[in-house]
Amino acid sequence: MESERIHFPILSETVNGKPLIYFDNAATTQKPKCVVDKIIDGYYRQNANIHRGVHFLSRAATEAHEDARRQVQQFINAGSACEIIFTRGTTEAINLLASTYTDAFFHDEAEVIISVMEHHSNIVPWQLQSERKRIKLRAVPVTAAGELDMAAYRSLFSERTRLVSLAHVSNVMGTVNNVREIIEIAHAHNVPVLLDGAQAVPHIKVDVQELDVDFYAFSSHKIYGPTGMGVLYGKETLLEQLPPYQGGGEMIASVSIEKTSYNELPFKFEAGTPDFIGSTAFAEALRYVNSIGHERIAAHEAELLRYATGQLLALGGVRIIGESKNKAATLSFLLDNIHPYDAGMLLDSYGIAVRTGHHCAQPLMQAFGIDGTIRASFALYNTKDEIDTFIKTLATVKKMLNP
Ligand code: PLP
Repeated sequence: MESERIHFPILSETVNGKPLIYFDNAATTQKPKCVVDKIIDGYYRQNANIHRGVHFLSRAATEAHEDARRQVQQFINAGSACEIIFTRGTTEAINLLASTYTDAFFHDEAEVIISVMEHHSNIVPWQLQSERKRIKLRAVPVTAAGELDMAAYRSLFSERTRLVSLAHVSNVMGTVNNVREIIEIAHAHNVPVLLDGAQAVPHIKVDVQELDVDFYAFSSHKIYGPTGMGVLYGKETLLEQLPPYQGGGEMIASVSIEKTSYNELPFKFEAGTPDFIGSTAFAEALRYVNSIGHERIAAHEAELLRYATGQLLALGGVRIIGESKNKAATLSFLLDNIHPYDAGMLLDSYGIAVRTGHHCAQPLMQAFGIDGTIRASFALYNTKDEIDTFIKTLATVKKMLNP
């Protein structure tokens, strides 16, 4: 959206003498000025450690941090602010859940259903836990179009299935999974569901109560907020049954040398000083998204994806990885027999930032029999003019690398 570009100072930078075209939004989004200002303002005017202080600044910082939690709660429509656990990001959220859920609920051999399209951060945490307890990962395969094979998903449930942990949106292909159906099927087996929403929340309005999802993880930096912040949402009844993740300050009710009793939710899971400036900037990013409106953002991004896909196919020699009808604004592809890394380097020399490689999804690469892709991922500030320049530059790249 042209009118919003002014909010993002970095977009007027040049790279290699060319105007920056930033198509690496699935990795991280750029930040609007209001978010950066919130960080600066926080350190200049509101910096004091939270929760324990009686003095003015500490109370103000505490209020801002807990306000941010309520903002997140509203953003995903959680039933209570105590269901919002601040983490460092999606990765920490999933690790937190993998560790505590394993402790609480995996006794005999447990099976966890994941999928071939998962980001490594929804695979490795479960593998780490399998070094402590007997856990078998069962992966839903993907179809040629890059969708979850739902018949296979149904067939993976057994009496040992303890959790389903799946991406809401694929970071490589943009596939929007049918999470409603995924959750219904899991719940019919009495199995809770964790959704990795890292790539969903920036593009789709998520309502955790309407979805009836049990746990939901996402990162601030992928939705115009600061890095080092994220969320694990969990249903209160389930979170109550989980043990703490880390020990330290904040997460305790009382401590003696012999014994500790733990704080209430959500503080039980938030040991140590949190990023209380980051949380307020994160909340500002969510307010910013609200001020533009999810529908407007989704419509704009869908049009960018439609346009870019058409233009790309018209270029010829393109293989798109992920052709689901229901995609978020992420476009992965291969160009002739050009190595994605070479294409990425050349695009960079023209000021265009895309991501190349396996995108932390090596099992998906293996499923498609490829090493990596070129990935262009769009955000609310991208434009069709940028896509035109991108396609023209790709034509040049094609000529240079594949004469
Ligand atoms: N899950 C998905 C689907 C992602 O795309 C990413 C990051 O790219 C992550 C998890 C990890 O997010 P973070 O690095 O913010 O913890």
